[in-house]
Formats: sequence, C-alpha cells, structure tokens
Amino acid sequence: MHKGKKLYEGKAKIIYAGPERGTAIQHFKDDATAYNNLKKSTIEGKGVLNNRISEHILNSLNQIGIKTHLIKRINMREQLIRLVEIIPLEFIVRNIATGSLTKRLGITDGTVLDLPLIEYSFKNDELGDPLVALEHITAFKWASIEEIKKINTICLRVNDFMLGMFRGVGIKLVDFKLEFGRIEINGKKEILLADEISPDTCRLWDVVSEKKLDKDRFRKDLGNLIQAYQEVAHRLKILPEEANISEVKFNKPTAVRLKKK
Ligand code: 5GP
Repeated sequence: MHKGKKLYEGKAKIIYAGPERGTAIQHFKDDATAYNNLKKSTIEGKGVLNNRISEHILNSLNQIGIKTHLIKRINMREQLIRLVEIIPLEFIVRNIATGSLTKRLGITDGTVLDLPLIEYSFKNDELGDPLVALEHITAFKWASIEEIKKINTICLRVNDFMLGMFRGVGIKLVDFKLEFGRIEINGKKEILLADEISPDTCRLWDVVSEKKLDKDRFRKDLGNLIQAYQEVAHRLKILPEEANISEVKFNKPTAVRLKKK
C-alpha cells in the first residue's frame, strides 16, 4: 500500500498520508513516554501489540454502531484510517479513582465511583495537557456544545462496552482516554472516534490480584510491560499468530520477538 509523506509524529505514533484522499496510515512506534516526556524509553514489541489490541477494540466498537476512524489494519505496525480533523481535547473516562484524579483532589486511590466521570484535557504537550472546563472548550471554540454532548454519549457507550468486554476476561477497566475527530460526509460534519484504545491509553487491573496490565508498569517502573500487554491480548484472544511469538517468561525484561510465517 502506498505510504505518502509524514503528516504528524507524536510520542507513540506517526501519521502518514494514505493511498487515497481522506485516508492516512497510522504507524505504531515502540516509544514510550510519561510525565510529559520527562521519562522516555523504547520497548520492543509495544507498537505491534497496541496495533492489534486497538484494532480489535475499534472493530468491536464499529460493530455496535460507534463510528471510528479505523478502516483496516494493514500490517504488524500500521492501520489504514480516515484522516480526520482532530478535536484538540482528551476525553478521560474514569470508573475508579487513581492517577491524576487522586493527586489533584486527594481522593483515596482505588475509590470506586458511583457513576463514570468524564474529564476534559486540552491537548497541548508544552502545557502538559491541562484539565479544562466545558466553558473553556466553548469559549476557545475547541468544540461546540452539541459536539460535546454527542461525544459524552459516545464516551459512556464505549465505557459500557469496554467494562463488559474486559470484565469477561478478568480485567477491571479503571479509566481510559479517548480522542475524537471531525470528518465531512456528504456536506455534513460527523464525529469519529480517533487515535487508539490500548493499554497505553487505558488503566487495566487484574480483577483478583489488581496487578496492573497497562502503561503504569512503565510510568511506575514496575517492569514487564510487554508481558502485561501480551497478557491483555491473550485474554482477549486476539493473537491468532501467537504460535509465532516466542514465549517470554513474565519476569524476564526481554521484549516479544515476532517471527515471519
Ligand atoms: P491520568 O489523568 O490519571 O494521568 O490518566 C487517566 C487515563 O487517561 C489513564 O488511563 C491514562 O493512560 C490516560 N491518559 C491521559 N492522558 C494521556 C496521554 O496523554 N497519553 C496516553 N497514552 N494516555 C493518557
């Protein structure tokens, strides 16, 4: 598939122009960053796993009628996507209080929320993605009230779906981040779920042991990140070529090795 020029490079992904107008190729890198780029590393195999996990989740969401930018996965590291105009906001959905919420408000870590909480952050690395209110969003025209209402509804549907999907494989969905974009279809603006949904963008805890199966393993120096992401992929039964992945013991900090068929 023809890959055009690089349009954008982020911390964990690169976006290239796609083979047709309105399409793009999303490439998943192995780079990991945390604390606003203060902590950086490269973790071999992370991009491949996130590509597969995100493909699985976005395809499942498509099947329940949630429109996403994903057209198809094209290889181990890349997806063909619709090119959208990204809304410069991160939508954080929380079921259990942890991370920045507990630091900001002094809430006890692990407090189960009665209802899911949606927070908005302004996407700006230099400012450290600051939390913003609905009033900031409309005042600075980052999105309209109608768009936010639509997006909030989608966030809650995604949360409902993913809570069930993960609970079915013994994983608690603690919180996650979503991004959305606009696209024009027949002269009408539509909202599409964009970016990725993976252990890089979600907090996932084992139901019994509360073992972290997400990027907090990197943020908090817990090690075994690839093994944790692999465990998520195995539990979701989305590694059909798993026979070709050399098994890595959970305590070895070596990365997953992918062999050609
Ligand atoms: P917190 O605000 O507690 O740091 O993060 C809440 C949730 O959103 C976590 O699941 C976290 O992984 C995700 N999240 C928030 N901001 C970002 C970001 O800039 N990049 C990524 N990959 N995930 C984020």
